[in-house]
Amino acid sequence: MNIPKSHPRYKSLLSREVVVSGFKNGLTSLAGLTAHGRGETFDYLLGEETFFFAHAALDAAASLLLLSKFPVISVNGNTAALAGRELVELSEILDAPLEINLFHPEKERERAISKHLKYLGAKKVLTPGGGLIPFLRSNRRMISREGQKKADVVLVPLEDGDRTEALIKMGKKVITIDLNPLSRTAQKADITIVDHIVRSMPILIKKITALKKETPEALRSILGQYDNETVLKDAIFQINQRLTKLSYE
Ligand code: ATP
Ligand code: MG
Repeated sequence: MNIPKSHPRYKSLLSREVVVSGFKNGLTSLAGLTAHGRGETFDYLLGEETFFFAHAALDAAASLLLLSKFPVISVNGNTAALAGRELVELSEILDAPLEINLFHPEKERERAISKHLKYLGAKKVLTPGGGLIPFLRSNRRMISREGQKKADVVLVPLEDGDRTEALIKMGKKVITIDLNPLSRTAQKADITIVDHIVRSMPILIKKITALKKETPEALRSILGQYDNETVLKDAIFQINQRLTKLSYE
């Protein structure tokens, strides 16, 4: 589709097209398309920018990932389509494995995502097997023995609430990227980046590169000042304030 750059929703429509292509190329599921729509709605309400609360969460996320002993990056169909290149770069700079975890597990889609990530430069892509999340019933409880099972920190962008909760119950620290500050994932995660994955991934990479020079004490101090509850309240306040302005001004 040819979207004119002058279109007020240009970037948003471009992302939508990327997810639609992801579906056509076997990366994204049909349900993934509607999940993207939910994200778009919250982006629209927030104002389609990376706000200060997202920056605070990105600083904390970068610090936690750098302090982590074994971080793992969980990848699903939407994240692979929207931010595959950045996920591979992040995996490289953190020396953290990429692990495919699908809400609707299909071997064929797993293979397509793995192929796509490898095409973008990933050296190794883990798939579920050998590990189980004890608090989940469905196929989604499958995790990799070499990945999430061993991880102390898991980055789970655009994740479902059940899995997030279960990973936390397993004692893992969870970082998410989720445009909906009200979702169970956003509410349960240790660090919630309320921002579009396409905008926030390059910022996360930049922040990690800059913070790599810092001492563990400095990173711990950034984490110590971070409060996820405040970040979620600030995001909800942003929507509230924006809608109030639009309705009364
Ligand atoms: P939960 O299960 O956590 O209560 P949910 O059922 O609404 O949330 P899921 O479909 O399980 O949502 O997970 C997808 C989440 O990702 C949603 O909260 C959605 O708002 C968010 N999301 C979708 N697209 C993007 C995007 N491009 N960037 C950031 N977040 C997104
Ligand atoms: Mg859900």
